[in-house]
Formats: sequence, structure tokens, C-alpha cells
Amino acid sequence: MSRSAIVIGGGLAGMLAASALSQSIDKVTVLERDTLADVPQPRKGLPQGHHAHVLLPSGRDAIDALIPGVSIRKRLLAAGAHEASLTSLITLGSEGWFRRWGRQEHLLLTASRDLLDWTVRDAVLGTPGVDLRTGQAVALLGNAARVTGVRVSDADGEEAELSADLIIDASGRGSRAARWLGDFGITGIPESIVDSGLVYASRLYRVPEGAETFPVTQVTADPFASQPGRSANLVPIEGNRWLVSLGGTRGGEPPADAEGFVRFARDVRHPIVGQLISGAEPLSEVTLTRSTRNGRRFFEKASAWPEGFVVLGDAVATYNPVYGQGMSVAALGAQAVHRELQQRGVATPGFARRVQRAVAKPVAAAWAMSTSQDRWFPGVQGNAPTVIDRVLTRYTRRMTRVATTSHAVSTAMCAVTTLQEDAIRLVRPFLLRATLAGPVLPALSGPPLTEDERAMLQVLDRSEEEAGNERE
Ligand SMILES: Cc1cc2nc3c(=O)[nH]c(=O)nc-3n(C[C@H](O)[C@H](O)[C@H](O)COP(=O)(O)OP(=O)(O)OC[C@H]3O[C@@H](n4cnc5c(N)ncnc54)[C@H](O)[C@@H]3O)c2cc1C
Repeated sequence: MSRSAIVIGGGLAGMLAASALSQSIDKVTVLERDTLADVPQPRKGLPQGHHAHVLLPSGRDAIDALIPGVSIRKRLLAAGAHEASLTSLITLGSEGWFRRWGRQEHLLLTASRDLLDWTVRDAVLGTPGVDLRTGQAVALLGNAARVTGVRVSDADGEEAELSADLIIDASGRGSRAARWLGDFGITGIPESIVDSGLVYASRLYRVPEGAETFPVTQVTADPFASQPGRSANLVPIEGNRWLVSLGGTRGGEPPADAEGFVRFARDVRHPIVGQLISGAEPLSEVTLTRSTRNGRRFFEKASAWPEGFVVLGDAVATYNPVYGQGMSVAALGAQAVHRELQQRGVATPGFARRVQRAVAKPVAAAWAMSTSQDRWFPGVQGNAPTVIDRVLTRYTRRMTRVATTSHAVSTAMCAVTTLQEDAIRLVRPFLLRATLAGPVLPALSGPPLTEDERAMLQVLDRSEEEAGNERE
């Protein structure tokens, strides 16, 4: 019997879901309200594309597994994306500067979001059985027992009804899934919000001559300093560009003007990012976003769930972007869809509910990580830390301090923060012992730069000059 599926949303989660579905379902329609271009370019439905995106190794591997016969990693690298080892970046964490170990492990991919999405889209839309339809989903068809289709509105406001055996909502943070289910009488889906009031400001720069090999550089916010968290991240992307994203939680937000941008980058916990960009040529205006809160809908806990409907990606949960998890969680969720489809058919009773529960697993891991940090920023909205949170935080802070000086501890923590391993792995005996014993080397007093990087920074740094100009 011929089976069909509709995916609402042609972003990353939607395209990966379409690829997963196409391996078991005859006809997959991706419904996207934006017109999608044949080349990487910004679009209205992807406003976060202006900001730095890193793809974690868990997400990269899930993406490569979901699109058979294509290596998205290789295509991205061929198009100019960068790859960097998480244990060799220049990072000031909440517990100090991390030592760099010069090993190829926990590799992060950095590229513009436009390139990333287009590379995946290009591969998935070339798959037999996957079609793209331009239009906006405005309602679900069916009832509380089974979702049978979607009502679609086209650009002229004409409406049509599409039916399918399975509907996946991958329409991002603005998803109406909870409201649509409410129309069927499925209400009371638990929700949680942890909002530090984070504002993100980003700007593109041309990489200055001689700085082509300068690595990802991050000065993170310190959630435990009892003051607004301020961060600065510099990420090399394709086209010989740096994408610089600054973040500030409630009361410490970055400004939207060009001078203020560099000043803010200099005034975070260490000025290195501000120094690097002080003489660099900007290639864009500053773009701000406030869409940064942690928000989760616990669909897996709904009192009832209809057959034929699954929610995926940001439509389920969003996280503070600083932790770089959303795309990887979307990819791991699409892998859960694939796994369940391989194990039992879409027509198996309870299939959608099983998938929704499987999708919740990577969501829960990412959620725990980002909210356990964000809860500590001043003025945060959401549940205050519990006694258990306080104990766990003391343990992970101490472990992080040890990780700044120990390769074994650093790489073990990276495996968890990149969603490659479960958090339970952080309580292995060797990690408990290392954490109790404390740091094995003295803390670094400044960024661990190579001689070449130090020389590069000196040449690039115009911050004294700029500060002087500002004073005049
Ligand atoms: C500032 C910022 C920085 C980030 N940095 C990172 C990072 O470094 N690493 C990382 O992994 N993640 C990061 N994220 C998170 C990441 O952007 C999201 O997790 C990811 O985009 C989720 O993909 P998605 O497909 O679920 O949603 P989206 O990318 O939002 O796609 C949803 C799609 O659905 C379409 N759509 C919406 N409604 C409808 C409808 N009714 N009908 C039809 N189509 C519809 C939209 O046009 C859009 O194309 C960041 C997020 C932000 C805000």
C-alpha cells in the first residue's frame, strides 16, 4: 500500500525529517511558506541565519547518516566551511581559560546558516519521492484520535486540504502544534520557559590578511558572577569571513550600533574578540535578536496523542543559542523518526506517540544542559535552581575547573556537551576522582595563544587607537 507524509516547514528539521521519511514512505511533501532559493541566501523564515551557528559532531554524524550516499560534511568543507577541534579552541569558560590540546577530536563545523541549510536542502530535494510545495499550514485535519492532513494557504490566500498518513510539524519556534491539538480537545500540554533575557548581536567581517588560520575564539558569559552575562564569539565561516556574535543577558544587552559593537566585544570578560575585530573590515550591519530563550513543550507527556502526528526541532524546544545545540537536536530527532520507521511501520498503532517520546530524549539532554546554566543569571524568568541543582552545579563547576587543565576531563565533558554521550557519563569513577582531586596544572592567566597567533593579534589590535578616538 502506498504511504504518504507531509512535513510542515522546510528548515533543517523539516528537510532531515523528509530524508528520514523518504527511506520508508513513498511520497513525502515538504510544505514551506517561504520561497526557497536554489543558492545559499538569507530568507525571512530563517532570521537566526544572521548569527553564528556551530554544528556539533553529534548533529554532523546524524545528518550524514540521514542522507544516504551524501556526505554533507564533505560538501560543506568543499564550500569553504571550517572544522575545529573543541578541545583546541581559544575559550574562556566560566572557570577560566581552557588549555588547548592540539588533537583532532569533537570536531565542530562552522559555516553560515544559509550555506548549511542550502547544502542539506539541495541533497534532500534531490531524493526520489520528496517534493517541495510552497504554502503555509494553517490547521490540522482530523480529530483527537488521528491527524489525517493539513489545511494549506497559498500566497494568494487560496486554501486547500492535503491528506497523508503522517504529518510532521517542523515549523520552528513559532509552531502552532499546541494550539492545533487544543482544537481537537488535547489540552494541558506542559510547557517550561527559562529566559535570561539574552540579546544576541552579530556582524560579518572580512578576515584580515594574515589571520586566515586564527581559530574559533570564545569568551563565554559567567552565569555564577551575580551580574549580567556577557559573551563574545568569533567564528570563521566560508568566503574568508568571520561571523562575530555578542550576547548579553538581562541588564547587559549588546547595542545595535557599529561602535558600540566593538566596544562591547572589548568589555566582556576578556577583550580578545574586540581586539581581533578592531581593525577588521565589516561586511554587514549589526543584526540583533531576542529570540533566544529556552522554551520547551513536553508533547511526550500529553494526556492523549493522535495517530499520524509528530512534532520535531524548534517546534518542540528552543535553547540558549550559546550552547550550539538546536540543529543537532533537530538532527537527532529526525534520526529517532528514522529508527522508529525502520523498526515498525507508520501504520502500527501508537507509532506517533512512540516517535514523540523518542524525539524527547535528545531534547531533554540539551534542555538540562542549557537551563542548568541559564538559571543562574540575574533576573532570569523561570524556575529558580533547586537544592539538587545547587549540588550538581557545585560538582560540574569544579569538574569544569579541572577540565581547563586536564585533557582527560576536558574531552570527557566535551563528549557530553556535544550530545555524543549521556550526562550520566559525567559521574564515572575516574571523573569523580579527578574532580575531587582538583586542577592538575595552574590556571592560565590569559588566552593560550601560539606565538604566531600572538603576533597576529598584535598586528590586528587597533583597540587602543579606537578607544583614544572615542575619548576625543
Ligand atoms: C541567534 C541564534 C543562534 C543559534 N545558534 C545555533 C548554533 O550555533 N548551533 C545550533 O545547533 N543551533 C543554533 N541555533 C538554533 C537553530 O537555529 C535552530 O535550532 C534550528 O534552526 C531549528 O531548525 P528547525 O528546522 O526546527 O526550525 P527553523 O530553522 O526555524 O525552520 C522552520 C521552518 O518552517 C517554516 N514555517 C514556519 N511556519 C510554517 C507554516 N505554518 N507552514 C509552512 N512553513 C512554515 C519557516 O519558514 C522555516 O523555514 C541558534 C538559534 C538562534 C536564534
